[in-house]
Amino acid sequence: MITIQGKGASAGIADGRLYFYRRVRSEIVRAAVSDVGAEWRRFKDAQARAVEELVSLAERARAEAGDDAALLFETHRMMAGDLDYEAAVKSAIQAGENAEAVVADVRERFVRMFATMDDAYMRARAADVRDVSNRILRLLTGAVQGGIDSGEPVVLAADELVPSELIQLDKSKILGIITVGGSSASHAAILARTMGIPMVIGAGEQLKSEYGGREIVIDGETGAAILEPDAGARAWLMKKHDEQRRTREELDRLKGQENVTKDGQRIRICCNISDPEDVRAVRENDGGGVGLFRSEFVYLGCDDYPTEDYQFQIYKKVLSAADDKEVVIRTLDVGADKQIEYFRLPREENPAMGNRALRICLNRPEIFRTQLRALYRASVYGKLSILLPMVTSVWEVREAKKLCGQVRRELEREGVPCADDVRLGVMIETPAAAVISDCLAEEVDFFSCGTNDLTQYTLACDRQDSDLARFFDPHHPAVLRLLRLVTENAHKKGVMVSVCGELAADLGMTETFLALGVDERSVPPRSVLPLRRSVREPDVSQCRTRVLRALDRGGDEN
Ligand code: PEP
Ligand code: MG
Repeated sequence: MITIQGKGASAGIADGRLYFYRRVRSEIVRAAVSDVGAEWRRFKDAQARAVEELVSLAERARAEAGDDAALLFETHRMMAGDLDYEAAVKSAIQAGENAEAVVADVRERFVRMFATMDDAYMRARAADVRDVSNRILRLLTGAVQGGIDSGEPVVLAADELVPSELIQLDKSKILGIITVGGSSASHAAILARTMGIPMVIGAGEQLKSEYGGREIVIDGETGAAILEPDAGARAWLMKKHDEQRRTREELDRLKGQENVTKDGQRIRICCNISDPEDVRAVRENDGGGVGLFRSEFVYLGCDDYPTEDYQFQIYKKVLSAADDKEVVIRTLDVGADKQIEYFRLPREENPAMGNRALRICLNRPEIFRTQLRALYRASVYGKLSILLPMVTSVWEVREAKKLCGQVRRELEREGVPCADDVRLGVMIETPAAAVISDCLAEEVDFFSCGTNDLTQYTLACDRQDSDLARFFDPHHPAVLRLLRLVTENAHKKGVMVSVCGELAADLGMTETFLALGVDERSVPPRSVLPLRRSVREPDVSQCRTRVLRALDRGGDEN
């Protein structure tokens, strides 16, 4: 038995075989082939398997979400068998090129051809051709779909994971995650918490590749991992499982109860999600709605810009599944640690301060408009609110509002219905936004405080850097004073305040948030009931003065 001590990043116990994540090389190897017939058969075999996959994806989509959802896969299936496409591949293979190189070249040729067509519908097919070609390429290169080549679910090990990798992995194969490096405020850790996957980070050199295939137990709360547990460790494991079950049963009794303090102060507890499937966890945990849908994960899960229709289906699915509860969808927040290859963003020295989130949307309005069209089209299927990330100035919000107005009018002209009551909010995650929150409150309906970035920018401390963990302190009085300022400014103008960064799920912050008058906390689904329990304990009239005085003194309660 070997014990590894890392840091807990997502609570829960996982027990399974350790599997080291293998990154798939994305470069295409080029080679001359002598057996042209065999190469053609390799292509035909990959093409046939792509068609099979697409048929079953269409069937699944139809069963789960109806004919409209299946249409995309059916279009892809037809493209995979398209005769012009096949003829282009055949002639290049006959000229002696290997199938991978040929498919990659034909992909680029067809994408260019579609992308330059006059008709908007045909232009949108460029993304489909890329998707289909990538599917065939994956089958040709033998890359495993979902990234995990194992018949059974595993405990995934990696040096580090970036959000685009984690989102593309087959989650049904992941029992838990353990990484050599990593930071608890990174989006990979946030994703693990949202999905309820136990995660240990910072295992360092203790995590050796030769351990692959052996049994490991990880505890995402304490950060401990035990390789090949002995009888004592197994007994501990059983006890932990028992404790967890009992806690769960106790918490389940709080379902249907209100988030109300002893003296009658109420707070909403909503959920952060990153995938339409997460709505199930929102319902299971009795969340008050979706307080933050990080829509960039829709983009991170694609190989090319998601089309308006594709996005529309996803937003519609989330809104329809939310039982008429509010769903806050944040517009695209890529950049920094959420890099997407097909955006072709220039390399930056300081990506966290660079071209990210709303800045990209305002610099490249065609991307923003596609998302806004999809959002407004979906708005009639539920109670939608739109949230703008990374705001620093009033003019950015005004420019975004102008685009929202244009998109709405455009849809109206096309006869496409939109809901009239779509609320607009901004993320307060830069010190600038907090300081001018009185002005921002004139522009929008609600604020959502992103304490992860607010901490990073206020303390000038990279949230990704595990070596800076003790400096990255969301409880820092500077951050809390900004939250106080924001809440006061917002409430003067009747604007609602949510906190959606990781600090929102901190049980030790309940009195502080209640004393500040925060209206909503948005947290990973599994945190809803523990938070509800903690909200039902205090009497705010008793603790408000103490908490606010401590804040005046710089966080010291004594
Ligand atoms: C935040 O910054 O606190 C936030 C919620 O956004 P993200 O973590 O996705 O940057
Ligand atoms: Mg943020």
